[in-house]
Amino acid sequence: MKKLYCILPFLLVACGAKKGGDVTTSQAYEVSQTEVTKTLEFLASDALEGRATGSVGIEKAATYLETIFKDHGIQPYFSTYKDTLTNLNQKAYNVVGYLPGTDAKLKEEFVIFSAHYDHIGRVKEAVDGDDIANGANDNAAGSTLLTEVAKYYGKNKNNKRSILFVFFSGEELGLKGSYHLADKLESKHLKWYTMLNFEMLGVPMNRPFQVYLTGANRSNMGDVINKYAGENTVGKLAIEMQYRLFMQSDNYPFFLKYNIPAHSVSSFDFENFKFYHHVKDEAKLMNTEFMTKTVARLLPALDQMVSNPVKEIKLN
Ligand SMILES: [Zn+2]
Repeated sequence: MKKLYCILPFLLVACGAKKGGDVTTSQAYEVSQTEVTKTLEFLASDALEGRATGSVGIEKAATYLETIFKDHGIQPYFSTYKDTLTNLNQKAYNVVGYLPGTDAKLKEEFVIFSAHYDHIGRVKEAVDGDDIANGANDNAAGSTLLTEVAKYYGKNKNNKRSILFVFFSGEELGLKGSYHLADKLESKHLKWYTMLNFEMLGVPMNRPFQVYLTGANRSNMGDVINKYAGENTVGKLAIEMQYRLFMQSDNYPFFLKYNIPAHSVSSFDFENFKFYHHVKDEAKLMNTEFMTKTVARLLPALDQMVSNPVKEIKLN
């Protein structure tokens, strides 16, 4: 999540028959906690040095994410997966994957699933000899969940609408990757439906719902997700409204540009994690069982979002 000032001391869509095989519906599909853990640990490892935009470390993360797309049948949307940011002086890339929709008509409509994979890198003052802000919760966790969503759709290819999977860079520098991409895509004149951005999803909340949406009152997305995925999958959080988190992550430039329902989904509630932008934001503090369950719980809702012929999600 972009620097926060002053705050811190899914119904079954079983119609995508696969060639010569079984249909793996989202409810039958098993998200692998082993893979979740592996991806999270890699992205948040010291070897990546906190994934600062423009660093050698983030370059390694980009290559890793690109390989996941390649290995799981997700195409590049542009000529390569790497989309070079034109609004920064340093070398930086979003990593953009694409899965065309299967329905002749609905494939003209686009849904974006995204997460920022950059973080703040090394900090000036080491804590206990550690100067690497690994960014496990922020946002190796959200990026990891997005890799699992991409693997699911890459395997099943049951999405009637087209999907863009985007790992954003430059988020911590002021949503640079998402402003860049929102501008760049304007010339394509795409028909947008919705955007869901995965942000800080490594630690469960002590609340009666699994996750929350930022800017929840701006659309009915939360209610519709709960209808698709079961009650209390997403909730509302008063404090996120107070801090206007809706405007603090990569959903915001797409809302501004295209006026579509575009939210971040998160489980960071200001009480459950004290190492925001801190060297102790490390993989070992993440709850990978929670992360795995969160993806599994959201998949039926994402299925409906990408395939339900009725566009039920609307701005309020
Ligand atoms: Zn952040």
